[in-house]
Amino acid sequence: MPINRLVHELSKLPGIGERTATRLAFFILRQPKEYASALSNALIDVKNKVRLCSKCMNLTESDPCATCLDRRRDEDVICVVEDPSDMLAVERTHAFRGRYHILHGALSPLDGIGPDDLKIAELLRRLEEGGVCEVIVATNPNVEGEATALYITKLIKPTGIKLTRLASGIPVGGDLEYIDASTLSRAFEDRRPL
Ligand SMILES: [Zn+2]
Repeated sequence: MPINRLVHELSKLPGIGERTATRLAFFILRQPKEYASALSNALIDVKNKVRLCSKCMNLTESDPCATCLDRRRDEDVICVVEDPSDMLAVERTHAFRGRYHILHGALSPLDGIGPDDLKIAELLRRLEEGGVCEVIVATNPNVEGEATALYITKLIKPTGIKLTRLASGIPVGGDLEYIDASTLSRAFEDRRPL
């Protein structure tokens, strides 16, 4: 039955249990047909049109992305973040005018997420191309983020490229996304060498 199928698909979304999925399914059913069309088109578009930037691995509609193409940004500093949402958090601070690299996660052996699941090889390839003098490791200040920072440090240290980590003062266990802009901005200014 179509409604069961919709509930089944919706319940696969993170944080959505079967009860919420059922509520959403009935909500969609009550809306005009245009709503269902707009929703399904948006879902299909996001898969068809959004891809990864071949340079920074950010989500983009055009490759390279607008940030990578922006000539006003410094080419020689790369800020490494876990997720696109973390990049947006850094952008909100206006404290950083360099380039980004999005890892798409953090090391988490318990969840089976290893280095090959992250965009680490892509980062190393970028650094090999030269022209980068500082890498700011802005992974989240929690266990997975710290483990990822440590792993990246070990790989990059031998290249002689300057490595920095955001200053403490950002709450431990937190996520960049939820840190207020002024705190995050200070963490950038006071970043420490790794
Ligand atoms: Zn890019």
